[in-house]
Amino acid sequence: MSFSSEEGFKKGFLVILGGGESGVGTALLGKAKGYNVFVSDKGKIKNKYKDVLLNNKIEFEDEQHTESKILNADLIMKSPGIPDKVALVKQIREAGIKVVSEIEFASNYTDATLVGITGSNGKTTTATLTHHLLRQELDVGLAGNIGDSFAKQILEKNYDNYVLEISSFQLDDIHSFRPKIAILTNITPDHLDRYDYKFENYIASKFRIVENQTADDYFIYDADDEVILEWLKTNSIQAKALPFSLTKVLEEGAYLDTNKIIITIDNNQIIMPTDNISLEGKHNIKNAMAASTVAHLLKIRKQTIRESLENFQGVEHRLEHVLKINKVQYINDSKATNVNATYFALESMDAPTVWIVGGVDKGNNYKELYPFINEKVKAIICLGTANEKLVEAFGNMVDVIVETQQMNEAVKMAYKLAEAGDSVLLSPACASFDLFENYEDRGRQFKNAVRNL
Ligand code: ADP
Repeated sequence: MSFSSEEGFKKGFLVILGGGESGVGTALLGKAKGYNVFVSDKGKIKNKYKDVLLNNKIEFEDEQHTESKILNADLIMKSPGIPDKVALVKQIREAGIKVVSEIEFASNYTDATLVGITGSNGKTTTATLTHHLLRQELDVGLAGNIGDSFAKQILEKNYDNYVLEISSFQLDDIHSFRPKIAILTNITPDHLDRYDYKFENYIASKFRIVENQTADDYFIYDADDEVILEWLKTNSIQAKALPFSLTKVLEEGAYLDTNKIIITIDNNQIIMPTDNISLEGKHNIKNAMAASTVAHLLKIRKQTIRESLENFQGVEHRLEHVLKINKVQYINDSKATNVNATYFALESMDAPTVWIVGGVDKGNNYKELYPFINEKVKAIICLGTANEKLVEAFGNMVDVIVETQQMNEAVKMAYKLAEAGDSVLLSPACASFDLFENYEDRGRQFKNAVRNL
């Protein structure tokens, strides 16, 4: 069976595992394209999604998987949250049933120009910024792990271009997915529980973004990232490489020349001043380089790119400036769920910082943060159910280190510790599930607590 075109899909029984945004979107598109569709979710399907399925007469079940039915599928769309080690998924694979992800399925039904963005950190920021730059002059949708499902947008909106935020889990089940422009923001260890605890498996998964690209396509990547460079030494790619770097001068791609970004593609150069970029931090210069390279490739005017970099509002929970109280700036970086993200947050701080950290530790190594602790952090507030590792890692490095299991209390402690001119930074370096529903809940609780001070 071929999956390279709409005709290539053999119409038949499409089973969708997972009744969330991508599952329900795929169900709608699948039905419209002539499939007999069945959605199955082991958990509870949210009422808003049930309503959509009912209204569209799409069969579904939740809180169970009827194996006999599922194993009858001609094609299975597996939502990214379902790991391969689940028994049912193993059975499906053993039965030789084709498994696809939403981006694989949906991309077969569009001729739009696809910009696919993956990486360990910076996906949402770069995707949102790229969308912001392109939308000034192009018809463009934003999809993937963000907002409305890609499949649903193809059905309902039919944009000429899509910016897709793509996780490694989505890439694990592609076959022919081919973005015209791929971005790899960086690779640091994350989600290793889904990759047999082998970093190389996770790296291979991220690089699948280039596997179907041809010489007509483009690959934009961080040329300061050792893991990426190492992989490129031993593997070849078909797409035209457009690296970006903060440290090297590049003839092709984007680099930093003091306070200017220079982007060159086929001898066509544009120059962007960095002073006016609304986002802070070196990591965001990288994100801006990647996004501007896409915009330059897709012929957005220089002036438009410049203005859009200036007026971009940022994304909630990513170094989000909440309020200034008594000359203390409160910053919500709840999305920093790993050490690398927090590294860039601390690096970008230019005032003495009261740092709120903690949560579910994913096997973190905190050593790389030490230089910033010495230089910038005046007090640490550990916010989690198990704070021992943090106290052990940082206890000797700051004068004040305190513990709590409540956001309200953490913010009140920070308020007491901070003086005029300081910043209070929530950048947890950990997952949120010990005390919060998710990182958004954690970020919102932080913002509410700050507003209630
Ligand atoms: P993702 O979607 O990949 O999780 P986000 O844009 O949501 O990435 O950012 C996640 C966290 O990583 C935030 O704390 C953010 O400040 C930080 N971050 C953003 N861009 C980068 C980057 N290029 N490198 C490292 N960290 C980054």
